[in-house]
Amino acid sequence: MRWGAGYGKKRSNSALKPILIPQLLQIPERNICLPVEDYLPELDTLTPIQGTLWVEHKGTYLAVRAEAKAIVTLACDRCLGQYNHRLALNLEEVIWLREAGAVIDPELEFEAAALLETLPPDGNFDPAQWLYEQVCLAIPPQSLCDAACEGIELEAAATTPLDSRWSVLAQLKTQIRDDCGLI
Ligand SMILES: [Zn+2]
Repeated sequence: MRWGAGYGKKRSNSALKPILIPQLLQIPERNICLPVEDYLPELDTLTPIQGTLWVEHKGTYLAVRAEAKAIVTLACDRCLGQYNHRLALNLEEVIWLREAGAVIDPELEFEAAALLETLPPDGNFDPAQWLYEQVCLAIPPQSLCDAACEGIELEAAATTPLDSRWSVLAQLKTQIRDDCGLI
Protein backbone atom coordinates (compact mmCIF):
# COMPACT_ATOMS: atom_id res chain seq x y z
CA MET A 1 0.00 0.00 0.00
CA ARG A 2 1.23 3.45 -0.83
CA TRP A 3 0.92 6.08 1.81
CA GLY A 4 0.66 9.78 1.40
CA ALA A 5 -0.52 9.67 -2.18
CA GLY A 6 -3.68 11.13 -3.53
CA TYR A 7 -4.70 13.44 -0.75
CA GLY A 8 -6.59 16.43 -1.97
CA LYS A 9 -7.11 15.48 -5.58
CA LYS A 10 -9.43 12.59 -4.77
CA ARG A 11 -11.25 14.04 -1.80
CA SER A 12 -14.26 16.05 -2.76
CA ASN A 13 -17.69 16.95 -1.44
CA SER A 14 -17.02 14.88 1.63
CA ALA A 15 -19.56 14.78 4.44
CA LEU A 16 -16.69 13.88 6.74
CA LYS A 17 -15.80 17.32 7.98
CA PRO A 18 -14.65 17.93 11.56
CA ILE A 19 -17.62 18.28 13.91
CA LEU A 20 -17.59 20.82 16.73
CA ILE A 21 -18.54 18.62 19.68
CA PRO A 22 -20.77 21.20 21.53
CA GLN A 23 -22.87 21.53 18.35
CA LEU A 24 -24.03 17.95 18.80
CA LEU A 25 -25.76 19.06 22.00
CA GLN A 26 -27.93 21.42 20.00
CA ILE A 27 -29.38 18.69 17.82
CA PRO A 28 -32.54 17.25 19.48
CA GLU A 29 -31.36 13.62 19.40
CA ARG A 30 -27.76 14.68 20.02
CA ASN A 31 -26.60 12.44 17.22
CA ILE A 32 -25.78 12.65 13.56
CA CYS A 33 -25.55 10.10 10.81
CA LEU A 34 -22.98 10.69 8.08
CA PRO A 35 -22.87 8.92 4.74
CA VAL A 36 -19.34 7.80 3.89
CA GLU A 37 -18.20 7.74 0.26
CA ASP A 38 -14.67 8.91 0.61
CA TYR A 39 -11.07 8.49 -0.29
CA LEU A 40 -9.28 9.26 2.95
CA PRO A 41 -6.20 11.41 3.28
CA GLU A 42 -2.96 9.40 3.38
CA LEU A 43 -4.73 6.13 2.67
CA ASP A 44 -4.61 4.72 -0.84
CA THR A 45 -7.66 2.60 -1.39
CA LEU A 46 -8.75 1.16 -4.72
CA THR A 47 -12.35 2.08 -4.05
CA PRO A 48 -13.70 4.88 -1.89
CA ILE A 49 -14.59 3.84 1.63
CA GLN A 50 -18.36 3.39 1.55
CA GLY A 51 -20.72 3.13 4.46
CA THR A 52 -22.25 5.09 7.30
CA LEU A 53 -20.87 6.70 10.43
CA TRP A 54 -22.90 7.68 13.48
CA VAL A 55 -21.82 10.02 16.28
CA GLU A 56 -23.88 10.50 19.43
CA HIS A 57 -23.15 12.89 22.31
CA LYS A 58 -23.76 11.05 25.58
CA GLY A 59 -22.89 13.89 27.94
CA THR A 60 -19.53 12.69 29.19
CA TYR A 61 -18.54 10.75 26.09
CA LEU A 62 -19.12 10.36 22.38
CA ALA A 63 -20.44 7.06 21.07
CA VAL A 64 -19.10 6.52 17.56
CA ARG A 65 -20.24 3.73 15.30
CA ALA A 66 -19.42 2.91 11.71
CA GLU A 67 -20.20 0.35 9.08
CA ALA A 68 -17.99 0.63 6.05
CA LYS A 69 -16.29 -1.32 3.31
CA ALA A 70 -13.35 -0.66 1.04
CA ILE A 71 -10.84 -2.41 -1.17
CA VAL A 72 -7.18 -1.76 -0.43
CA THR A 73 -4.26 -2.76 -2.62
CA LEU A 74 -1.57 -4.58 -0.65
CA ALA A 75 1.80 -6.09 -1.55
CA CYS A 76 2.17 -9.77 -0.70
CA ASP A 77 4.88 -10.39 1.92
CA ARG A 78 5.90 -13.63 0.18
CA CYS A 79 5.82 -13.01 -3.57
CA LEU A 80 5.77 -9.18 -3.50
CA GLY A 81 2.88 -9.22 -5.96
CA GLN A 82 0.06 -6.72 -5.54
CA TYR A 83 -3.40 -7.93 -4.71
CA ASN A 84 -6.70 -6.45 -3.63
CA HIS A 85 -7.98 -6.98 -0.14
CA ARG A 86 -11.58 -6.38 0.79
CA LEU A 87 -12.19 -4.74 4.16
CA ALA A 88 -15.52 -4.81 5.94
CA LEU A 89 -15.67 -2.70 9.08
CA ASN A 90 -18.28 -2.80 11.79
CA LEU A 91 -17.01 -0.61 14.59
CA GLU A 92 -18.06 0.93 17.84
CA GLU A 93 -15.96 3.16 20.03
CA VAL A 94 -16.38 5.38 23.05
CA ILE A 95 -14.45 8.65 23.13
CA TRP A 96 -14.35 10.18 26.56
CA LEU A 97 -14.77 13.95 26.78
CA ARG A 98 -12.42 15.67 29.15
CA GLU A 99 -9.98 18.53 29.15
CA ALA A 100 -6.36 17.66 28.63
CA GLY A 101 -4.72 17.54 32.07
CA ALA A 102 -8.05 17.36 33.91
CA VAL A 103 -7.86 15.73 37.33
CA ILE A 104 -9.38 12.28 37.19
CA ASP A 105 -11.74 11.31 40.00
CA PRO A 106 -10.05 8.27 41.63
CA GLU A 107 -13.33 6.40 41.46
CA LEU A 108 -13.34 6.93 37.74
CA GLU A 109 -9.77 5.80 37.32
CA PHE A 110 -10.68 2.35 36.12
CA GLU A 111 -13.19 3.75 33.70
CA ALA A 112 -10.69 6.31 32.50
CA ALA A 113 -8.12 3.63 31.80
CA ALA A 114 -10.64 1.64 29.82
CA LEU A 115 -11.67 4.61 27.73
CA LEU A 116 -8.39 5.38 26.09
CA GLU A 117 -9.56 7.85 23.51
CA THR A 118 -10.27 11.31 24.85
CA LEU A 119 -11.19 14.64 23.33
CA PRO A 120 -11.79 18.03 24.95
CA PRO A 121 -15.55 18.64 25.38
CA ASP A 122 -15.35 21.88 23.40
CA GLY A 123 -13.08 20.44 20.70
CA ASN A 124 -13.63 18.84 17.33
CA PHE A 125 -14.29 15.26 16.41
CA ASP A 126 -12.74 14.52 13.02
CA PRO A 127 -14.64 11.60 11.46
CA ALA A 128 -12.16 11.27 8.56
CA GLN A 129 -9.22 10.96 10.96
CA TRP A 130 -11.12 8.49 13.12
CA LEU A 131 -12.08 6.36 10.12
CA TYR A 132 -8.51 6.49 8.81
CA GLU A 133 -7.22 5.06 12.10
CA GLN A 134 -9.85 2.33 12.13
CA VAL A 135 -9.09 1.29 8.55
CA CYS A 136 -5.34 1.17 9.32
CA LEU A 137 -6.05 -1.05 12.32
CA ALA A 138 -8.20 -3.34 10.17
CA ILE A 139 -5.45 -4.01 7.61
CA PRO A 140 -3.94 -7.42 8.39
CA PRO A 141 -0.40 -7.23 9.82
CA GLN A 142 0.74 -9.98 7.46
CA SER A 143 -0.20 -9.54 3.83
CA LEU A 144 -0.57 -12.70 1.76
CA CYS A 145 -2.11 -12.76 -1.72
CA ASP A 146 -3.19 -16.32 -0.93
CA ALA A 147 -2.72 -18.53 2.11
CA ALA A 148 -1.00 -21.01 -0.23
CA CYS A 149 1.21 -18.40 -1.93
CA GLU A 150 4.51 -20.09 -2.74
CA GLY A 151 6.52 -16.94 -2.98
CA ILE A 152 8.72 -15.83 -5.86
CA GLU A 153 8.84 -18.52 -8.54
CA LEU A 154 12.05 -20.52 -8.55
CA GLU A 155 12.04 -20.97 -12.36
CA ALA A 156 12.11 -17.23 -12.82
CA ALA A 157 15.02 -16.97 -10.42
CA ALA A 158 16.85 -19.86 -12.15
CA THR A 159 16.79 -18.21 -15.58
CA THR A 160 18.56 -15.17 -14.21
CA PRO A 161 22.33 -15.50 -14.64
CA LEU A 162 23.68 -15.72 -11.14
CA ASP A 163 26.74 -13.90 -9.95
CA SER A 164 28.78 -16.59 -8.20
CA ARG A 165 29.10 -14.35 -5.15
CA TRP A 166 25.35 -14.74 -4.59
CA SER A 167 25.34 -18.52 -4.90
CA VAL A 168 25.73 -19.06 -1.16
CA LEU A 169 22.73 -16.82 -0.55
CA ALA A 170 20.73 -18.69 -3.17
CA GLN A 171 21.53 -22.01 -1.49
CA LEU A 172 20.53 -20.60 1.84
CA LYS A 173 17.27 -19.34 0.38
CA THR A 174 16.47 -22.77 -1.07
CA GLN A 175 17.31 -24.37 2.24
CA ILE A 176 15.03 -21.98 4.14
CA ARG A 177 12.21 -22.68 1.70
CA ASP A 178 12.70 -26.44 2.16
CA ASP A 179 12.81 -26.10 5.92
CA CYS A 180 9.66 -24.03 5.96
CA GLY A 181 7.90 -26.54 3.74
CA LEU A 182 7.07 -23.90 1.19
CA ILE A 183 7.73 -26.16 -1.81
ZN1 LIG B 1 1.91 -13.87 -2.82
